[in-house]
Amino acid sequence: ASTAACSSVTFGDADVEEILYSEQAIHERVAQIGQQITEDYRDVAFAETPHGDPAILMVSVLRGAAIYMSDLARQIDLPFEMDYMAVSSYGTGTKSSGVVRILKDLTSNIEGRHVIIAEDIVDSGLTLKYLLRVLESRNPASITIAALLKKQNPEQAEIDCKYVGFECPDAFIVGYGLDYAERYRNLPYIGILKPEVYQGK
Ligand code: 5GP
Ligand code: MG
Ligand code: MG
Repeated sequence: ASTAACSSVTFGDADVEEILYSEQAIHERVAQIGQQITEDYRDVAFAETPHGDPAILMVSVLRGAAIYMSDLARQIDLPFEMDYMAVSSYGTGTKSSGVVRILKDLTSNIEGRHVIIAEDIVDSGLTLKYLLRVLESRNPASITIAALLKKQNPEQAEIDCKYVGFECPDAFIVGYGLDYAERYRNLPYIGILKPEVYQGK
């Protein structure tokens, strides 16, 4: 089957300084991560759980990681449940506040299950640090992180990301789920937003 890029969205092109990862490049990398997860989790995927739930639970951190998890899910050849959490650390600005709040919690019980967190981007790492602490207290069998992007932020907290799509520059990134003021999530590629778009805001 063809893996050719197929989106015709172009509206954000003028606001993007540089395209870092094309639609095609993202597709290929997400497919690789999905294959890796399929191999790594094959042995636990069919294990019995107390309530008959799938042993693997993929958790997407809304809203930025929704597109990534939707694509990643279709590259994992195992049964799993998908659930969603919403946390807030950013508001509409471009710098982490360090304050994390749970806006929407998981619907599923994670006790005794293998949790894979699909996160869009690790910047300061504070969001994931907080999330790991909250989820670990619920006694899952395991938790791993599958981050699409890991920013080369020199002040990043120590976070063990088992799967990383791309190590990206320490700039403000948009597209493929990532927004600025709720725009640009639907760009098919990932790029650096022109600073003049957010400067003075
Ligand atoms: P952290 O807690 O690691 O600093 O980042 C928390 C969240 O901020 C990320 O999950 C992501 O949603 C958002 N974020 C961090 N860096 C960027 C970025 O460059 N662009 C966008 N659009 N969101 C970002
Ligand atoms: Mg996020
Ligand atoms: Mg955002």
